[in-house]
Amino acid sequence: MHELAIGRALLDQVVVVAAQRRARAVTGITLQIGPLSGIEPALLRAAYEQLRIDTVAEHARLVITSMPVRIRCDACGTESNAAANRLVCARCGSAHTILLGGDEMLIESVDLIFG
Ligand SMILES: [Zn+2]
Repeated sequence: MHELAIGRALLDQVVVVAAQRRARAVTGITLQIGPLSGIEPALLRAAYEQLRIDTVAEHARLVITSMPVRIRCDACGTESNAAANRLVCARCGSAHTILLGGDEMLIESVDLIFG
């Protein structure tokens, strides 16, 4: 279950952000998860629910959104969105495409309270 390790790394980053900004607590975390990341949002959420206890993010709400799969076509140069299971160019239909995004997890925002 690599979501546990991912959740731990996520919380480590959030704790660092909160400390750097001298925040009292984290109230929300918004993540973008790509469909090709191999991360299962439900498992990550379950891991997070356990890991956040006794951290500055203990009461933070976790919002998970999906990000689009982005590709660039080697044949015609077009950049487009693609389905996770069909990485073909939206313009010319070529399957010779380079993955630009959709295989990663990004922390979109961390909501902090101060004082
Ligand atoms: Zn193309």
